[in-house]
Amino acid sequence: MTTVYLKPKKEESLKRFHPWVFSGAIARVVLDAGHKTSAPDEGELVCVRSSADEVLGVGHWQIGSIAVRILAFGEEKLPVNFWIQRINAAYKVREAIGLIRSDNNTFRLVHGEGDFLPGLIVDVYADTAVVQAHSIGMHLCRNEIADAILAEVPQVQNVYYKSDDTLPFKAAIEGEKTGYLIETVQDRKAQNEAFWSTENGLDFRIDWLRGQKTGFFIDQRENRALVERYAAGKEVLNMFCYTGGFSLYALRGGAKHVDSVDVSQKAIDLVNVNVAKNFPKATNHTAVTADAFEYLSAQKAQNRTFDLIILDPPAFAKHRDAVKNALRGYQRINAKAIEMISHGGILFTFSCSQAVDKEAFRLAVFSAAAQVGRKVRILHQLHQPQDHPINIYHPEGEYLKGLVLYVE
Ligand code: SAH
Repeated sequence: MTTVYLKPKKEESLKRFHPWVFSGAIARVVLDAGHKTSAPDEGELVCVRSSADEVLGVGHWQIGSIAVRILAFGEEKLPVNFWIQRINAAYKVREAIGLIRSDNNTFRLVHGEGDFLPGLIVDVYADTAVVQAHSIGMHLCRNEIADAILAEVPQVQNVYYKSDDTLPFKAAIEGEKTGYLIETVQDRKAQNEAFWSTENGLDFRIDWLRGQKTGFFIDQRENRALVERYAAGKEVLNMFCYTGGFSLYALRGGAKHVDSVDVSQKAIDLVNVNVAKNFPKATNHTAVTADAFEYLSAQKAQNRTFDLIILDPPAFAKHRDAVKNALRGYQRINAKAIEMISHGGILFTFSCSQAVDKEAFRLAVFSAAAQVGRKVRILHQLHQPQDHPINIYHPEGEYLKGLVLYVE
């Protein structure tokens, strides 16, 4: 196996279980026999050793500033049954936090570094697991991963792979980046490849083929449940609603009326399907395909107000250098929303940009309140749920943050 030797004193972070080896920490690489090139192949398993020849761990090699992502600390090569053990451990955590129930079969099974599997995301929707690889190393292991999921997660029968948008751009990646890895239930095509999955007793139609990310935003589950608690008797606006997650919880919570708004027509079509399935008699829901800024301006022109607004925009900053613009964006959209909240109303506002930290986001929201002259107080500070765990040695894994504000 190829061995990567670190420079003196560069082993410290690995000894503290931080899973990344930066290229600057590497002294030399000893390739195993048979390499035609002068560097390891992208995605190759390599053993990492200290300058004193101590084994630090085994991980996937990749090209870029993060050169190795460690899979197993203190091991020279991947243990036998590695994938089975890791997937089993991840499943046990989901069981322990109470997500495997007759009224809930929707959960994130693997959250990258948070489950000690850097570069891998797995979401489970009823009998189907959707796998996303963010590294070539995980891409190359996709079949072993699929087999382990099938073996360890009782409800799963199909494994769909969806890594078109998540793998680093490379001209030639071996193998398909999308498609079924395991297809036990064959009649999906007849069902238009979309089906129902249940979250906290609410049914959602999930379209992993055409939908965003793996098909659904599981990360807002707990925050949606909180909206349910606040919704009774309220005029609700669910802005950036996607397939209507927050809307269904608001309706179940007894909202007077819910407006669901998204710029994507496909998303709005699914909102209507989801509302019809869960609340067939509802007459208090309206779904609108519109741009957020235009919609808010149009409502304001009609002097409309809402008692509860949810703002869950897509990541405004995908990279560090976009943070300044993103903060301006958060301030603008929040100002527009706060302006339209009735006295004593509530705002649920979120940022899923990993590059925007909690403090910066809070400042942007407070600047928005000040800009429109409304007094606000924080009722809750929200974050990603338990099935999106943060590896304590990898705080970069924290990305979702939210505030619930009381607006006077
Ligand atoms: N709250 C949702 C997830 C939101 S994801 C849930 O609980 O499932 C962000 C959504 O914002 C996407 O559906 C995307 O289509 C939508 N979006 C992106 N830009 C937009 C814009 N300018 N106006 C309205 N919606 C937009």
